[in-house]
Amino acid sequence: MELQERLKDVWSRIAAAGRDAGRPERSVQLVAVSKTFEADTIRLAIEAGQRVFGENRVQESQGKWPELKAETPGIELHLIGPLQSNKAAEAVALFDVIETIDREKIARAIAEEMKRQGKTLRLYVQVNTGLEPQKAGIAPDDTAAFVNFCRDELGLAIEGLMCIPPADENPGPHFALLAKLAEKCGVKKLSMGMSGDYEIAIAFGATSVRVGSAIFGTR
Ligand SMILES: *Cc1c(COP(=O)(O)O)cnc(C)c1O
Repeated sequence: MELQERLKDVWSRIAAAGRDAGRPERSVQLVAVSKTFEADTIRLAIEAGQRVFGENRVQESQGKWPELKAETPGIELHLIGPLQSNKAAEAVALFDVIETIDREKIARAIAEEMKRQGKTLRLYVQVNTGLEPQKAGIAPDDTAAFVNFCRDELGLAIEGLMCIPPADENPGPHFALLAKLAEKCGVKKLSMGMSGDYEIAIAFGATSVRVGSAIFGTR
């Protein structure tokens, strides 16, 4: 299959999973994860009509996205990888959504940069649902307090929660936990599900899925 066929296949699977879950049409957003792929490959997805993309590194994104964004109005770029506070200025300048807010220092740096640049990004808090030591994200038990801190102390409107379940576990319980935490925090959006499990994530209430290799091929 060509890239554009794979992309259309993912779109139709998302629509079908949404219908199966009794969700309204177009209520699940596809974030096409283009990390490691070059601008010319990404252009094929843009030409097919995809507008929402995810990248996990600020520096790599700076090498391809300013030009791609200039070419096509309406691109929405999500940062889905860990963020260092010394990259906050660049991240706020280039991205539209940051899904990986997970500690006070980053939340403060992003709040300051948004003020300085006069730009409001949509923000998600990343939750380490599997409490994996090597993985970013706030612990489930600390999530509600952290979301409240972001809102009340920093004035950041947190739109949703994001998780990456442990690779070797059944993802369902992790998706269910994220949905439960979102309810507790009063946030509406759930970014969960990747190439191997996005249909399951939709069944558990995902409002956006981050799919890379099923569209762009193996990295
Ligand atoms: C790479 C990545 C994805 C996409 O993974 P695939 O398995 O290629 O679909 C999703 N989310 C995050 C945070 C990633 O880093």
